[in-house]
Amino acid sequence: MSWEENVRKVVPYTPGEQPKINNIIKLNTNECPYPPAPSVKRAMDSFEYETLRLYPDPNSGSLISALSDYYNVPSDQIFVGVGSDDVLSMAFLTFFNSDKPILFPDITYSFYDVWADLYKIPYKQIPLDEDFRIKKEDYYIENGGVIFPNPNAPTGLVEDLDMVEDILQNNNEVVVIVDEAYIDFGGKSALPLIDKYENLLVVQTFSKSRAMAGMRIGFAFGSKKLIGYLNDAKFSFNSYTMNRPSLELGAATLADKEYFNETCSRIIATRERVKPLLAELGFVFPDSSSNFIFAKHKTVSGKKIFEELRSRGIIVRRWDLPRISEYLRITIGTDEQMDTLISALKEIV
Ligand code: PMP
Repeated sequence: MSWEENVRKVVPYTPGEQPKINNIIKLNTNECPYPPAPSVKRAMDSFEYETLRLYPDPNSGSLISALSDYYNVPSDQIFVGVGSDDVLSMAFLTFFNSDKPILFPDITYSFYDVWADLYKIPYKQIPLDEDFRIKKEDYYIENGGVIFPNPNAPTGLVEDLDMVEDILQNNNEVVVIVDEAYIDFGGKSALPLIDKYENLLVVQTFSKSRAMAGMRIGFAFGSKKLIGYLNDAKFSFNSYTMNRPSLELGAATLADKEYFNETCSRIIATRERVKPLLAELGFVFPDSSSNFIFAKHKTVSGKKIFEELRSRGIIVRRWDLPRISEYLRITIGTDEQMDTLISALKEIV
């Protein structure tokens, strides 16, 4: 027997490319095209580097307290992690511990099946309908837990809170996770439902709408009991997940509500301006409520457009997966970047 037989083997998640070249238009990982809030810059400038000598607060007190004030949720109902990927990974480990399969859409965030494989959680991928909508009735079957993003990624489609609540009502014996990475760009957060459903975990991030992907800050809201279980798992895994700069700069971003609202509005305005331009060029796409558009062309192949854009220094995201191989996921950049994209697409198609 070889030592390799006992190795935990996984096919890892492939993150979007972070190219080293300059002068590219990077529309492939749903980052914010604008800088973080000025309050973050100020906090960075006054950060005391000597404090890096000391471990950070294992309870992430300052960040949790800032989130608590901002969202008006008690501190013991908030959990933070190294990006929402860390929060979600910890939630999979903590809450999905049944022999029955967990359920998530067939077209969704492609990290879910990776975590399920890593933790040996059985799962069932539920097909979206032909318009890429979640069919709530499909989630009434027996299962070990439910997770879906709202808005969904990479489709960009948002479901209303009635649908989210219907799924909760039909799944009161398992944990239901709503991944709201893109909620600030459209739709209603399920946050108010955490008081009504003890089994609901709502996960959000500073990576997209707060332009802090490089800082790695994610957070979750849930019942006191749910957050308690998450903390037990976290403290059995790594006590010091959040470093000192994250705790300070994360709290600082929440201080500038005006800048946040302005940035989100700009991205939404650009998205709405680009939609008819793409349609004119022969693209079809679900009506996105997020900071990206998931589009395919009526005649030209996704692979060709992807490569042609790339040769012009414009990078978007594409998956060679069933049902979506013709689609490109295009992050909403600045107006100028989107104009360059539209000109390039005009030449290509
Ligand atoms: N959920 C969804 C649906 C995402 O698209 C992403 C971004 N890749 C994440 C979670 C994780 O984002 P982060 O770890 O940067 O918070």
